[in-house]
Amino acid sequence: MDNKRNFIQYLLILILLSIKISLAFDAETTHPKLTEEAVKFYNFYAKRKINNQELEWMKKGSKNEDLSPRWANHFYDPIHNIAINKRYFRGYVPEAGWKPIFGFVLPAEPLKSVDWSINQEHQFLYYKLNRTFQKAIVSYFKKDYETAFESLGHVLHLLQDLGVPEHARGDPHIGRGGDQPSYFEEYTKNYLNKDINIAKDLLSKNIKFKKFNGIYKIFNELATFTANNWFSEDTINNDFP
Ligand SMILES: [Zn+2]
Repeated sequence: MDNKRNFIQYLLILILLSIKISLAFDAETTHPKLTEEAVKFYNFYAKRKINNQELEWMKKGSKNEDLSPRWANHFYDPIHNIAINKRYFRGYVPEAGWKPIFGFVLPAEPLKSVDWSINQEHQFLYYKLNRTFQKAIVSYFKKDYETAFESLGHVLHLLQDLGVPEHARGDPHIGRGGDQPSYFEEYTKNYLNKDINIAKDLLSKNIKFKKFNGIYKIFNELATFTANNWFSEDTINNDFP
């Protein structure tokens, strides 16, 4: 009887812990919702509109980019040109590597998210799932639209993360062991649960979408904007401008 009760208690603690561990925007709601608004906005202006089926594929991709442990590659600090920074994990021991931070050994050293988005070899090391920007382009021309739009959703996820101070400042936000979660991500999760009309609001203000030539330029502009204008919990007193 006691054993059974203990087991259930442990199970409950485990479930609670796994809910608490938040390394990114909430994948279930936040990323698909942001993707949907981005597509709505794009469709206001685009000649070749993204249809509902294609949108669903993109939403699926934007959700699946958080498949563990791909999220180790979701950081890009453009000021120091680095990926996730171990120093900003509270209680970090320099010799210990990633294991105490994530709880397991990573398949490969994390990349900057902008590099991750186009590095097919590296994505292959992470359990053979290639959802790079190239995969999106090649699949589109092969008329494999499902893979194309899903891959595009994966890339959008990376960009969406760079609107979060922690991601643009390389600050892990595990939400356990003294390492704080991202308050902005928590806020966004609640905010996006309500009825929102970001795309329509932008349209009504006559805001048009911006064109870039090259994926690096897109990532750099957003990451620099975020890193330069907002603090994250563990990067207030350090070498950011
Ligand atoms: Zn995050």
